[in-house]
Amino acid sequence: MPETPLDHALTYLKSHRTEHLAEVQDFLRIPSVSALSQHKADVAQAASWLASRLKDAGFENARIDATPGNPVVVASSAIRPDRPTVLVYGHYDVQPVDPVSSWNHDPFEPTVENNILYARGASDDKGQVFMQLIAAEAWQKQNALPVNLKFLFEGEEEIGSVHLSQYIREHQAELAADLAVISDTPMYAEGYPAICYGLRGMASMEIAVQGPYQDLHSGVYGGAVMNPAHALAHLIDSLHDASGRVNVAGFYDEVDPLGDEEREAFRRLPFSEKQYQEGVRTPALFGEEGYTVLERIWARPTLEVNGMWSGFTGEGQKTIVPASAHAKITCRLVPHQDPRHVLDAVEAHVKSHLPPGVTLTVKRGEGAPGSITPLDHPAVKAAEKAIESVYHTEASYIRMGGSIPVVVDFQEVLHMPTLLLGFALPDENFHAPNEHFHLENFYRGAETVATLWQYLGDAHV
Ligand SMILES: [Zn+2]
Repeated sequence: MPETPLDHALTYLKSHRTEHLAEVQDFLRIPSVSALSQHKADVAQAASWLASRLKDAGFENARIDATPGNPVVVASSAIRPDRPTVLVYGHYDVQPVDPVSSWNHDPFEPTVENNILYARGASDDKGQVFMQLIAAEAWQKQNALPVNLKFLFEGEEEIGSVHLSQYIREHQAELAADLAVISDTPMYAEGYPAICYGLRGMASMEIAVQGPYQDLHSGVYGGAVMNPAHALAHLIDSLHDASGRVNVAGFYDEVDPLGDEEREAFRRLPFSEKQYQEGVRTPALFGEEGYTVLERIWARPTLEVNGMWSGFTGEGQKTIVPASAHAKITCRLVPHQDPRHVLDAVEAHVKSHLPPGVTLTVKRGEGAPGSITPLDHPAVKAAEKAIESVYHTEASYIRMGGSIPVVVDFQEVLHMPTLLLGFALPDENFHAPNEHFHLENFYRGAETVATLWQYLGDAHV
């Protein structure tokens, strides 16, 4: 059979493994710790290294954009209107390395042992950023990229992406694409390369129950005034039913029911409820009836009290009726739940369930919607095919229970879905001593991404 351009791309990656390993080690040697001001120059150096390596890879327009914080590195291929456009996001900053004494090697002297690369940033995220870069280069070398590619690499992810949202808003037209791809997450488990297609959103509020004008003597007033701590306990108790379901009218109105296909995909994943329970050392798991643990944490909304306080909590006794009681509440939302509607529902609930004799103040906080890429999106199918052709195993479909703010911006500001296609493993010590990246997944990840560009180009997203 004649060699196809995809064969050439894969051959290029396979025949340059030694060079690519040496280069990613150069990149990892730069201590681009964003949290520490003494590394400011190193962060800038990592940005220049990346921009100049993008130029070498055939992205001559690569540039470094200043922000009020650390710079953003952007680049793009020539844009052909008949091809789908993909925005690849990653970050070149890393976490601090303390405690250094817990590392087996210098965190900034990348070391390979048993085909595992040890260094700060190996898997989170410089290793995966470089993996994306060489996958693109494999196509650029033959001038045959099947998709239009745009790169957006930031240097502030580990300090909360402070200036990225603003940058995205200011560069909407330039960053516009059909799809975003991020390689900054782990696979499900070793041997389970995964496509993560959904993240939960968030809504928060704080409530304060006010009773008497100040703490009162419980011997003089106890029994004659409503105790705000009791009133708050009553309110909080009313938020769930005994089976763990949120008991707030309208809370589930915008929740998409879980499809059979999704539930089946989750069920196929290796997961032990017993191990999960042992991991958190809790006497029993508890949650909404009718759903498995993975469904509860990935695809069902929750309402949690994160903190509550009232009255006297010091040593010994203080016989008072407290003046007030407080609680912080957050909800994890599933895609299509509007954070404002959820906060409206919870606010209406607490107001209508308030016992007599106290008043209530509700302070609404931040909200961000969840995000989801429909399973029948052509990009999802293309990613599945790419994983299967490189790993020779079925691709896993997973969601995550947390949020990734940049994904919300891609959805809300740039109006595009995101695929999280990460090749790290869950136990590769991100943010911890001895961070590492299995080289097999570094190489195969690059091959999978190169293959994905072919299939996406064919699919005409
Ligand atoms: Zn990361």
